[in-house]
Amino acid sequence: MTPASTSPVDIRDLFAQRKSTFSFEFFPPKTPEAAEELYRHIADLEKLHPTFVSVTYGAGGSTRDLTHQLVVRLNSQTALNPMPHLTCVCHDEAQIDAILQKYAEAGITKILALRGDAPKNWTGEDPYKHFKYASDLVRAIKKFNQSGRHPNPRGFAIAVAGFPEGHPDTPNRVLEIERMKAKVDEGADFIVTQLFFDNHDFYDYRDRCALAGITIPIVAGIMPITSLSGMKRMAELALGARYPAPLLRAMNRTRGDEGGARRVGVHWATEQCRDLLDHRVAGLHFYTLNRSTATKEIYASLGVESSLSLG
Ligand SMILES: Cc1cc2nc3c(=O)[nH]c(=O)nc-3n(C[C@H](O)[C@H](O)[C@H](O)COP(=O)(O)OP(=O)(O)OC[C@H]3O[C@@H](n4cnc5c(N)ncnc54)[C@H](O)[C@@H]3O)c2cc1C
Repeated sequence: MTPASTSPVDIRDLFAQRKSTFSFEFFPPKTPEAAEELYRHIADLEKLHPTFVSVTYGAGGSTRDLTHQLVVRLNSQTALNPMPHLTCVCHDEAQIDAILQKYAEAGITKILALRGDAPKNWTGEDPYKHFKYASDLVRAIKKFNQSGRHPNPRGFAIAVAGFPEGHPDTPNRVLEIERMKAKVDEGADFIVTQLFFDNHDFYDYRDRCALAGITIPIVAGIMPITSLSGMKRMAELALGARYPAPLLRAMNRTRGDEGGARRVGVHWATEQCRDLLDHRVAGLHFYTLNRSTATKEIYASLGVESSLSLG
């Protein structure tokens, strides 16, 4: 891995300077073997010069420390610019404050503030007792920023999650946008969306946000399907993700051949990205599943040598 570069430009300024940002999501590996494999893929992905990378946050337990460890390692030992995810689940004010303090001391400059989902079959006390919604977490980060404890006087840039197809718990799409507006009004700087497979959903979501006065950058979440089993798993994880009929038809034509399914999935994601770039998307965020090959293939098919070459 390449050592850390000189201090990067603030993401809030980069959105204004760049035509589009490119970013990758990783999850913290649970075993030393998985960690080594991830670092191999990261070394590969570094060559694409992503604008930032993000690291997911688990529902509880030891994986939460792994997020911190991976973020700090990426920040200190690579040229990558990491953004930790942080959730409301089972955290009180003092814990959130301590986490923010540690990230500030480590020189982390942005955070994705989420509500998170309580573990399945949770029977303990209300996991959202202290922070009910992502907007509460945004408020806490903003308060931390205002306390002047971050080495950057502007404090952390704050990202929040958006759902072009609607969040499964939100009863209607009008409320969806009103609640997004609440996160923006609390101080969110940009939105990263849930994965989607039909760009019309994204464009319509972007337009509905604009109509509600949400003008912050909206980064599109992209997940190349690389196997039929992965497709089923994703439908489960990203509840509500809709696979358009043309994608399903192409998948059916592969008759269960995993190599064919992979080619269809990567081609579909590449076409999504090309179309999004043509429609001036603020950024593309790749759900890498800790792999590098599909993302590299998409870059190559887009004619993008590295994120920097987009201007
Ligand atoms: C890019 C991205 C990254 C993610 N990373 C992670 C991760 O690392 N770890 C993890 O655990 N999860 C992660 N998730 C999943 C996310 O935490 C869940 O989808 C969660 O259910 C919603 O989070 P949110 O931040 O959108 O919550 P919120 O914006 O708080 O919304 C959650 C629900 O509450 C409703 N709501 C919001 N405000 C109000 C209000 N004032 N009154 C009533 N209802 C309200 C919303 O309509 C919605 O139904 C990620 C999702 C995305 C899109």
